[in-house]
Amino acid sequence: MKFTFARNACALAVTTLAITLAHSAPASAADEVNVYSYRQPFLTDPVFDAFTAESGIKVNTVFAKKGLIERLENEGDNSPADLVLVANVGTLAAAVDAQLTQPIDNAVLTNNIPASYRDEQGQWFGLTGRARIIVTAKERIESGLIETYADLAKPALKGRICTRSGKHGYMVELIASVIAHEGEDTTQTWLQDIKENLARKPQGNDRAQVKAIAQGECDVAIINSYYMGAMMSDPEQQSWADSVNVIYPNQADRGTHMNISGVFMTKAAPNRDNAIKLLEFLASDTAQSIYAEANHEFPIKSDVPASALVATWGTFKQDELPLSTIATHRAQASRMVDTIDYDG
Ligand code: FE
Repeated sequence: MKFTFARNACALAVTTLAITLAHSAPASAADEVNVYSYRQPFLTDPVFDAFTAESGIKVNTVFAKKGLIERLENEGDNSPADLVLVANVGTLAAAVDAQLTQPIDNAVLTNNIPASYRDEQGQWFGLTGRARIIVTAKERIESGLIETYADLAKPALKGRICTRSGKHGYMVELIASVIAHEGEDTTQTWLQDIKENLARKPQGNDRAQVKAIAQGECDVAIINSYYMGAMMSDPEQQSWADSVNVIYPNQADRGTHMNISGVFMTKAAPNRDNAIKLLEFLASDTAQSIYAEANHEFPIKSDVPASALVATWGTFKQDELPLSTIATHRAQASRMVDTIDYDG
């Protein structure tokens, strides 16, 4: 596989990314499709292997934790990338804003993926769902104290909440969803109150917050649902997960905030037809089941069951406000995090 790099410092910087391309071949080939992925290989490899077995189309993957969107921008029309897999709606919306995407009109995708989890113009598609849940210390938070995101502002929680940085996409998009439902003023007061309730400065990833509960540093955290599955599957982290109860917030009203992992087709996709076949596969029962089992995410296709572990937390009401609408409040949410100095 020969990738064409833009000749500038930024592009050079990304040559250090983990590259898992198997062998030399042109960027455009009859039996290939090229994917840039922020999603980890343990998750995508089984899906792509199943696709190749079914279609005969080889999937070349470039995985990286950051820098792929910048790489795509630098490569411009010469980019070999056909599809980009990302882990939150903000990245999808930003790619549209940067004019890196192309619209796809495809019946399999629109049938299998609910409208609230895809762009109206087909510029991006959700592939898996994740709930932004609240977890609480089993021994220290009485049931009923927290039932909504708004409850996180209660004075009874002073010094008891842990979260990751407010600047992270998972937090920004949760805040954006609160803005979408409750307006900017109410949201800012709420966020300020949560800051007052923090046990420590925002730090670490979602799992680190649960670890902090297990260690008694805090009593409440906000995390993505699949991390509960990941911790339960890890002998070192299982005790963290065991120390908390799972709460799906806002069951009596708007439902729990959902985010997605998703995909977009690049503007210059050299293997467009193969990429569409892969998109259809990603939305299929086979791929949806692999995602559900391997990472405890919610299948976006409604008739595919969640993993057995996720099923033990029961069914719940999801916030159905379209993610494209929530994404329009990202900039306001980011500004708010800065205005109240949430991380400070
Ligand atoms: Fe994550």
